[in-house]
Amino acid sequence: MNNTIELSNMYELALFPKRNFIATRGEGALLWDDQDKQYIDCAGASGSVNVGHCHARVVRAIQEQAAKLICCTGIFHHELRSKVCERLISLAPKNLRKVFLCNSGTESIEAALKFARISTGRHGFIATVRGFHGRTLGALSATHNPKYREGFEPLVPGFTHVPFNDIAALSAVVTSETAGVILEIVQGEGGVYLAEAEYLRQAQALCRERGAMLIVDEVQTGFCRTGKMFACEHSGLEPDILCLAKSIAGGVPLGATLCADSVRIHIGSHGTTFGGSPIGCAAALASIDVMIDEHLAENAAEKGDYFGAKLRAIVSPKIREVRQLGLMIGVQLKERSTSYLQALMEEGVLAIPAGPTVMRYLPPLVISKAQIDRVVEKTALVLSRPAT
Ligand code: PLP
Repeated sequence: MNNTIELSNMYELALFPKRNFIATRGEGALLWDDQDKQYIDCAGASGSVNVGHCHARVVRAIQEQAAKLICCTGIFHHELRSKVCERLISLAPKNLRKVFLCNSGTESIEAALKFARISTGRHGFIATVRGFHGRTLGALSATHNPKYREGFEPLVPGFTHVPFNDIAALSAVVTSETAGVILEIVQGEGGVYLAEAEYLRQAQALCRERGAMLIVDEVQTGFCRTGKMFACEHSGLEPDILCLAKSIAGGVPLGATLCADSVRIHIGSHGTTFGGSPIGCAAALASIDVMIDEHLAENAAEKGDYFGAKLRAIVSPKIREVRQLGLMIGVQLKERSTSYLQALMEEGVLAIPAGPTVMRYLPPLVISKAQIDRVVEKTALVLSRPAT
């Protein structure tokens, strides 16, 4: 057996349903395996490489910063950390004014939960059915699917889950004890379900009226994925807290929790050693420049609609529905998706599941129309064959 897989099987905790694939290098929307076979990467590191794999400007920024300073904790100032905060605030909804930088999506959610509790003096949270917010205990308490939660109880008390896109159900549970309502604009892990703009606006109004914070989780939808820099722009939302990570730094670990003035927090009440590292910040500044200079939001909107239309045109009794916003795409099957995703990989296309029956495509936003055509052609091909 291949030594990499052998070592992994022997020493790496088996937490992921791993594929028989050894990634060696990437460029743009392409990945190569250890046999030098090329793949179109619609797994996109679970949505973390919106600017494309190893974008030259990101690589250069990392290399240059690595030669200067790798680590700098929050007790000292660092030029790039200040600039990243400024940049994020300049791009985010205008009510957001301050930033906490961390290392990942789940950390940005943990911070949001703590900030909401301490700022409101309340303890309760409302999250949604099918919502996914991460796997640390606070974020896991907001995550709905029992598959992630079972065996880890008791989770953090105070969380209630209500159906998504149902304002009456939300209204029924937001009380004077509610610190925050946490929502995704498109539920990613839950199966690529889009929030309705009116639901989001009413949810925001409800939060304002009842003194709860609106926490928007854009860990997956942020940074041009849905055709806007942030997906909350589609409905003009101004959340109290916006959680970001994944593509913020071209694939380098970084997360951010953006806060409105309603968030009041004191020195020492939260922190991180590595959050906002010089390398993460260098990569973030370069990645954000790429997103703007290469018009990745517009690209995602246009290519996403192209991709979605082509997928919808596939005639297959196995497809129940295609859901898409920008380049966040889910093809819901009437049966389990696993064997089709495996077959797709054998055909040179990588995609990931979102729940048991959804094939999810989160390609780098630099994917070309020719590459999309190929992905659609291969998707149609694998769906034309019986499941294995
Ligand atoms: N929130 C959302 C919407 C996510 O999709 C994810 C990860 O997929 C997370 C939070 C957790 O992010 P991370 O895996 O970086 O901890």
